[in-house]
Amino acid sequence: MTVHPTTSPFLAELFGLEGKVAVVTGAGSGIGHGIARFFAEAGASVAIADRNPSAAERVADELNAHADRATWIETDVSAEPDVTRMLRHTLERFGRVDILVNDAGIFPAKLIAHMSLADWERVQDVNLRGAFLCLREAALQMRGQGTGGRIINISSVDSLHPSMPGLAHYDASKGGMNMLTRSAALEFGPDKITVNAVLPGLIATEGVAAMNRGAGPPPTEEFNKRIVLGRIGTPEDIAACVLYLASNAANWVTGQTFVVDGGYLIG
Ligand code: NAP
Repeated sequence: MTVHPTTSPFLAELFGLEGKVAVVTGAGSGIGHGIARFFAEAGASVAIADRNPSAAERVADELNAHADRATWIETDVSAEPDVTRMLRHTLERFGRVDILVNDAGIFPAKLIAHMSLADWERVQDVNLRGAFLCLREAALQMRGQGTGGRIINISSVDSLHPSMPGLAHYDASKGGMNMLTRSAALEFGPDKITVNAVLPGLIATEGVAAMNRGAGPPPTEEFNKRIVLGRIGTPEDIAACVLYLASNAANWVTGQTFVVDGGYLIG
């Protein structure tokens, strides 16, 4: 990562995160990794929370190679004690929390006809219950600090439109996340805590590569054909929108869902 400090005080004030502390779940890989890099570039201290400790440590080391502003913590977001530990660790290291990104998520494709209750529940536990637990812990901390905050939930275009068979449990979890976003925005608005969601289209990540490694044609092939801008997205395409929502530029934006999909939904 190369750090390019902006020479414009106006842009630094608008989009910079100097002095802010962010927690990014699922930041050991994919979109979360991209978000953590953008936050560090913008001057924030970042806690990398992921269930995969070696991936989390690798990302923290990468960020710390340029500025000693990252820490990592092994966290399963679906486990309440882990989420409590994640917040405590961040507070011990950085003293406060200003930004939470709920990125950790799983998308194991399975048709409803073959889906067990355990399959269904695991996806809800990570994607929706995990987002709730992290949001509640972080929002209460932010409320106590009294200086507002930012919560950004990484949902999906699948919350609006099923992209392929086999993701009913996932699509339902992300639809729930959109409503969690709006309800939390309502409840925490008086504390100047904004809550928004970003809905990515198809993004090239380790998680998607793993899904495509299954037998038969890659399940994302049909999806690809509908992307109006002619390419699948990158973690940076999503990180740019998340950075905007975390910054002063989005001071008056809450309860919204931002589709970032290269035009997939209109294709
Ligand atoms: P990814 O490459 O698989 O990265 C997700 C990271 O989260 C991995 O490091 C994963 O660890 C970790 N994780 C999984 N379960 C966790 C848990 N219970 N607690 C903490 N960390 C956990 O996935 P991605 O493609 O970047 O997706 C990130 C988010 O974007 C997800 O919420 C996904 O639904 C959403 N999204 C992705 C796309 C896309 O096309 N990529 C599109 C729309 C929305 P392991 O490696 O151990 O699993």
